[in-house]
Amino acid sequence: MSLLNSPLLFISGKKILIVGAGISGLSFALSLQKLLPSLTSPNFIQPSIKIFERDTSDLDPTRQGYSLSIRSDGTTGGVQTLLKLGLLDTAIERGVHGENVGKEKGTFCLWDKKWKEIMRVNLPTPKGLPVQNVRIKRNVLRGILVDACVAHGVEIEWEKKVVGVETLGDGRLKVVFDGGGEEECDLLVAADGARSKVRGALKPDAVLVYQGVVGIMGESRFDGSPPPPAEKDWGLMLSGTGTGLFVSPVDAHSIVWSVSWLASEQRPVPNQELGNKEKGELLKEALERGKAFPEPYKTYIEATDMETLMLRNFSDKDPFDHWAGSLEGVNVVFLGDANHAVTPFAGAGACLALSDGWDLAEQLVKFEKLEDALKAYDELSMPRAKRILKFSHFTIKFGHANGWWTWVLVLGFKILFGLMVFLRKFYSP
Ligand SMILES: Cc1cc2nc3c(=O)[nH]c(=O)nc-3n(C[C@H](O)[C@H](O)[C@H](O)COP(=O)(O)OP(=O)(O)OC[C@H]3O[C@@H](n4cnc5c(N)ncnc54)[C@H](O)[C@@H]3O)c2cc1C
Repeated sequence: MSLLNSPLLFISGKKILIVGAGISGLSFALSLQKLLPSLTSPNFIQPSIKIFERDTSDLDPTRQGYSLSIRSDGTTGGVQTLLKLGLLDTAIERGVHGENVGKEKGTFCLWDKKWKEIMRVNLPTPKGLPVQNVRIKRNVLRGILVDACVAHGVEIEWEKKVVGVETLGDGRLKVVFDGGGEEECDLLVAADGARSKVRGALKPDAVLVYQGVVGIMGESRFDGSPPPPAEKDWGLMLSGTGTGLFVSPVDAHSIVWSVSWLASEQRPVPNQELGNKEKGELLKEALERGKAFPEPYKTYIEATDMETLMLRNFSDKDPFDHWAGSLEGVNVVFLGDANHAVTPFAGAGACLALSDGWDLAEQLVKFEKLEDALKAYDELSMPRAKRILKFSHFTIKFGHANGWWTWVLVLGFKILFGLMVFLRKFYSP
């Protein structure tokens, strides 16, 4: 680390604005606050950091209430980042299996169309970590990050939607807000998700690409414990019928489900909230598409909280680098989904978002020139995002395979998984 040179660091005395208080934006803000104390030069001037978020501060439990798998594999390093942020214990405690840590806990599974277990994908826990995986509700993880950011003095302006971005010619940028007002900055961190407004303004050629899958998703609530297997385990049903099913616990009384199928054309998704009639039709369609699946499929679908029901066309995009092409000389960084959106089939977008946040902060306290910091950041962030993107395309094929092809893929997956377990057991540092 360039501790002696810290007054010369690009970030010294700079104004940093972050668009989006999602996983990547919060991870970056917190990481920087954690790393700044290591810059001990008396001449270093603390940068100012502010986040703009379009949503309200009370995280509506009915929105984005799905649960996430925070993984510890070498590619995504989500659990490792939570540890570096000092949030792992809280995340474990407040995770879906919090109360079961150290005892029986759920795991990722592959089921056949009768819910018979084909495989439990239980990787060994890497050395130095208490858990291999943390399954946690997105809103809970976001809330933990928000609390930690606020405790570290990060300013978050809620209900502040960015609608435009302009370059000011000297690398600096100006953001424009919905309803009027603007603010200039020395460094802009775009962490505003898959449909990033900032990306649309500064890199309009980097668009989402439809991956040929449409899905209906919802969260189902139960008075008691949800029926197994999704009360504890999560994963994919490989039905061999071309229809994919994902189920996962969200908390002690709810699960999330997604039924999906391959479709060459995207389905129109209205901008505004679906009406009751459309939602009723969507639920019927979900039941119809999964009619070959035995119970508890029907029970899961019928217990859906209609507020949470949605139709999605699944899209993603390749990562892009900074300080190149139209971004050369522009002090902007795109983190998480704003750079490399992945579909839920990757099961790793939030892990990438967490790691992006930490890695960017670390490069900014290491390099004097922003250009060097961004190049070093790209070298960390881009390869892992590409690997995850490839993996998610495989999962899409795998999860929607038909007939005998399903079992060829299952065999391939079992061999690959066996190899991974072997390598982790014997070669993990
Ligand atoms: C059903 C489902 C299951 C998933 N499962 C997993 C999983 O198991 N494991 C995993 O690792 N990942 C999973 N993911 C992916 C993960 O949720 C995302 O990849 C992750 O949230 C991306 O983080 P982000 O910070 O880049 O974007 P987001 O978390 O989307 O945050 C973007 C933020 O920017 C704000 N914003 C947007 N536009 C503006 C604007 N114009 N002005 C101001 N603020 C704005 C938004 O309100 C939001 O708060 C799943 C996703 C889905 C949908």
